[in-house]
Amino acid sequence: MKVISSVAGMQRTAEELRRKGGRIALVPTMGYLHKGHESLVRIAAERADVVITSIFVNPAQFAPGEDFERYPRDLPRDTRIAEGAGTGILFTPSVEEVYPGNYHTYVIVEELTTVLEGKARPTHFRGVTTVVTKLFHWTKPHLAVFGQKDAQQCAVIRRMVKDLNFDIDIVVAPTVREQDGLAMSSRNAYLSPDERQQSTVLYRSLQLAEQMIRGGERGASAVADGMKRLITSQPAARVDYVSVADAQTLQEVDTVPPGSEVLVSLAVRFGATRLIDNVLIKT
Ligand code: AMP
Repeated sequence: MKVISSVAGMQRTAEELRRKGGRIALVPTMGYLHKGHESLVRIAAERADVVITSIFVNPAQFAPGEDFERYPRDLPRDTRIAEGAGTGILFTPSVEEVYPGNYHTYVIVEELTTVLEGKARPTHFRGVTTVVTKLFHWTKPHLAVFGQKDAQQCAVIRRMVKDLNFDIDIVVAPTVREQDGLAMSSRNAYLSPDERQQSTVLYRSLQLAEQMIRGGERGASAVADGMKRLITSQPAARVDYVSVADAQTLQEVDTVPPGSEVLVSLAVRFGATRLIDNVLIKT
């Protein structure tokens, strides 16, 4: 595995790969890699000749007061995991090169970014779309793999790729979970043992939503209320939002129409740690 940290070096290498006819897959990450990231790299490796995994803790997608400074980082461990999963090139650009002084240009996707995570974190998605655009320019991929764990991010990236005519296939990989159901996340490392135990309620609440909807419940607020009751049975849990939304537009629904697909998603805090998770349900 090759490690590249300069933007110019990455662009030169990507250009060479393209000239030789290689199919390039990009897996963007913020590092502190876990089995969710590994699965993305494996899925990418099945579809391309070279997988470029990027590691960049992107300051533009954190608001002041969020966890940018304390976000977990461990490059030596990430290097081993990335290589083991099938990464050909590990790309680790620096903040200084990504956002040099006097930086003023952002990519903004409207509408989809005003709900759910975008409502709770108003500048988050413009940071994501800006850095992903840059990553696309640097790594010149034929496809890029993102995780369903960040469902709204997938929708926003798909929208951007369509609207800006990026010639890149977007592949969405299923959420990888711990044995007890908690979605893998670099942020799980923040949880105390007690919070970690309580956090299993998140997936149980999503399963409850699925059971209710499959059992014929059509009222979105009844589903959300059932989830909130279950989540708040854990003393450390503070619900940021629970949402039942149309899977395409991400607009919340009042009733779950038959023959539709809904995204049931949540953001919940345990102490200072904010976790998100979701399931897609076809009715
Ligand atoms: P992050 O490093 O958290 O920004 O995530 C990088 C990529 O990995 C994103 O596309 C995430 O959606 C994806 N990802 C994170 N956690 C998981 C998971 N548990 N299962 C599948 N994909 C994930």
